[in-house]
Amino acid sequence: MIVDIHTHVGTVPEHIHERFVEQAREAWVDVQLGGTLDEHYAGALDGVDRAVVLAFDAPTAGFVVPNDYVAEYVARDPARLVGFGSVDPSSPTALDELERMQSDLGLVGCKLGPIYQAVDPLGPEFLRVCEALERLELPMLIHQGTTFARSGSLLQARPILLDEVALRFPSLRIVIAHMGHPWFEEAIAVVRRHRHVYADVSALVSRRWLLYNALVQAIEYRVDHKLLFGTDFPFFTARETIDGLRSVTGDAFGPQLPVIDPDVVEAIIERPSLELLGIGA
Ligand SMILES: [Zn+2]
Repeated sequence: MIVDIHTHVGTVPEHIHERFVEQAREAWVDVQLGGTLDEHYAGALDGVDRAVVLAFDAPTAGFVVPNDYVAEYVARDPARLVGFGSVDPSSPTALDELERMQSDLGLVGCKLGPIYQAVDPLGPEFLRVCEALERLELPMLIHQGTTFARSGSLLQARPILLDEVALRFPSLRIVIAHMGHPWFEEAIAVVRRHRHVYADVSALVSRRWLLYNALVQAIEYRVDHKLLFGTDFPFFTARETIDGLRSVTGDAFGPQLPVIDPDVVEAIIERPSLELLGIGA
């Protein structure tokens, strides 16, 4: 059973503003979220058994994929697609929306991204959302790492800030997206200290040396069992991600450097992430 914990749906310009696409192009590549929903559906499940589909409420960044849109999309295959909603912590209706997306829409987790939402992860607006997520038993998938988007500050993006969040809300399930790139050490330190904090490996295959180093660090700190499989589809496919993960095992970078046991990578690919996050069948 392969679970992709991190996929996106949405279109330009309906959900993703031109300025976001522009900034992506400057820094990286064309944002290709296009294609029909049928094509998206086929692609998201190609090579995996289940896929988590993320809403995102980040108007400051120009990236708004509504909860209703994700709920409607997930309804086409509720056995295989899993919907995570999103709220903008700065919105006065954020807490009401959390309850609505869970009870009315059946969304089972929440995607947040303080740097995209231009919010301080240790400020009152963000912390009240964390408090509600813990109370509602909704896991949080959080983009706590850098981005090309200039909506917020890198000071809001450091994974180390989540240590304080996990101390205050010890039963909240947290997934640090992209292993907190490029601050892998910080993400790993937080994952190691807190029972319910995990990290996903999505989008890391484009930088093979960084991926290798991130995995070696996770193994040396003995937290590789808390790494979850994810792709960041449609930016990366499951096949690319699985091939990329396998490509850094063994003595991929020569016999002088630490060797990643292929079993570690296979365990990441097969990780029962939904169970770990308390999400039932
Ligand atoms: Zn993503």
